[in-house]
Amino acid sequence: MDQKNLPKIIDFHTHTFPEKISAKALARLQGFSGITPVTDGTISGTISRFEEFGIDMCVSLNIATSLTAHTTINNICAEDNAMYDGKMVFFGSVNPLSPDALDELDRIKTLGIKGIKVHPDYQGFYTNEKRIYPFYEKVSEIGLPIVFHAGWDCYSPNDIHSTPLMNRQVALDFPNMKMVLAHFGGLNMWEQVRDLLAGLPNVWFDTAMCKTMGLSKELFMEIYNRHSEDRVMLGSDCPWENPAESVRYVKSLPLSDAQKEKLFNLNALSLLDII
Ligand SMILES: [Zn+2]
Repeated sequence: MDQKNLPKIIDFHTHTFPEKISAKALARLQGFSGITPVTDGTISGTISRFEEFGIDMCVSLNIATSLTAHTTINNICAEDNAMYDGKMVFFGSVNPLSPDALDELDRIKTLGIKGIKVHPDYQGFYTNEKRIYPFYEKVSEIGLPIVFHAGWDCYSPNDIHSTPLMNRQVALDFPNMKMVLAHFGGLNMWEQVRDLLAGLPNVWFDTAMCKTMGLSKELFMEIYNRHSEDRVMLGSDCPWENPAESVRYVKSLPLSDAQKEKLFNLNALSLLDII
């Protein structure tokens, strides 16, 4: 990427799907979330809306739900990273319960993929289970950031797989793992985020769904001030929250211009190893 033309506003949390399955995947997700998607879910459809959303680049998070989907997903990821360089950064994924999960992490690194996403609710594990620890050890070793869905999720509303308490334990046990806890540390569990996660040095937050779920600006600022201005990134969860709304939410917070610049792009660029 041309260093002089760095993106000003990066959305660190979006989802896109291959053309062929996009409509079906969105319909299914809309079915249990009850949220009408903002985009058609495709890569080109999402990029074509950037100007309207007020973003210049985004991270698209894949989720390998089955134990075998990762090879195909990560191969496509690598191709898409080359094809949409400067516009979209595609994270790889592997189900930690897959028998070849550790080998796939090596392959993700070799493919030049910039990060990994896991979704404990979809993938069927609790984040602090000891059987996942070899996976975390490997993630720490390859040095890539790992995004966790964190907090409540409509897919498994009564059984939360990634709570602030669980993730605090993981963060303390793996101090070299760069953990991005989506949804500002834990969707709808923000008091616990403030008390258990804010300030941990190897933890990053994105702002995905803060606007939709009505996180108050007071509590946002309490967490932000206790955490670090260097480890919070803009996120929307597009197509489930309109990135324009996410940007507006952040702009309305009582942050300095320097803090906003970090939140909108510098922290993401640094985590993506671009600057
Ligand atoms: Zn998401």
